Amino acid sequence: MTARVLDGQSLAARMQEEIKPEVAVFTQQHGRPPGLGIVLAGNDPASEVYVGHKVKAGTSAGFRVDLERLPATASLADALALVRRLNASPDHDGILVQSPLPKGMGRGAEQAVFDTIDPAKDVDGFGASSVGLLVQNRPKLVACTPWGVIQLLERENILIAGRHAVVVGRSDIVGKPMAMLLLHRDATVTICHSKTPNLPEVCRQADILVAAVGKPGLVTRDFVKPGAVVIDVGINRVTDATTASRLYPAGHKRLALFQSKGSILVGDVHPEVEDVAGALTPVPGGVGPLTITMLMANTLKAARDRLALAG
Ligand code: NAD
Repeated sequence: MTARVLDGQSLAARMQEEIKPEVAVFTQQHGRPPGLGIVLAGNDPASEVYVGHKVKAGTSAGFRVDLERLPATASLADALALVRRLNASPDHDGILVQSPLPKGMGRGAEQAVFDTIDPAKDVDGFGASSVGLLVQNRPKLVACTPWGVIQLLERENILIAGRHAVVVGRSDIVGKPMAMLLLHRDATVTICHSKTPNLPEVCRQADILVAAVGKPGLVTRDFVKPGAVVIDVGINRVTDATTASRLYPAGHKRLALFQSKGSILVGDVHPEVEDVAGALTPVPGGVGPLTITMLMANTLKAARDRLALAG
């Protein structure tokens, strides 16, 4: 069997095209575009890349996107003050604080900042209020990555209700909200993590298997029930030849890419799984592109809901 490819890249492009005219209508009706404020503290190179993609995607869809920078030496108080300013701004409907925050802000700084974002503007869905509403199955703004996975499953007509979903990873930004979203769509959900014994055996029970771990190729063929739907959330940069050649056989085009570039992006799912799974998201081009699209969708929703509330 060769798995059906769940093409997140083209779904993301289609959804962006759906959002664009809606943004244009909003702008015409309200005399301003929906606005997103992005807080970037410090100069983490990966964060610069992620934020760059978000600014580009938002701007090209017609949103107002303001990048608010803080120096690496900024304090937690500086970050909170910036968030409060954006909370009060009539031009900003969504606020996103790029993680990680500089270490100097102290432990717990990230959640303190997320919790300070006005819940009506919490387009990343990481604040305590957004998470609580999700747990109670009355979500307002849902974390973009798991929300993107749900869009992909639903638009690909993959049945969730009554099926066994296994989520590997229990982070606040992916694993936990993913499990809640699947549960609320009537899946029977098992959450696995670094201390789960017999991981392959538990994963083999899954009709829908979601890997959100951050370990290249962790999910091998023995984790997968034949025909299962496998969603690979992991994005890992591989820079060593041993790992690359564990993932791809000699002569494979991805191995050649690794050899020419010195690194490649891979998921948590070993490529051999495509021979066993019924459907599979590729990396790159699977879940990743949907995350930014859902940020746009959340910002538009926040803008509409805020103005509807304002009457
Ligand atoms: P995290 O480090 O916060 O959490 C990882 C989770 O994996 C933890 O809950 C841990 O218990 C579990 N884990 C670790 N080792 C394990 C093992 N050997 N077996 C089973 N479970 C194990 O990571 P995260 O932020 O949730 O991200 C996970 C992956 O998803 C990363 O590769 C990240 O880059 C990627 N990611 C992708 C997107 C996207 O847009 N596609 C968005 C966010 C994160």
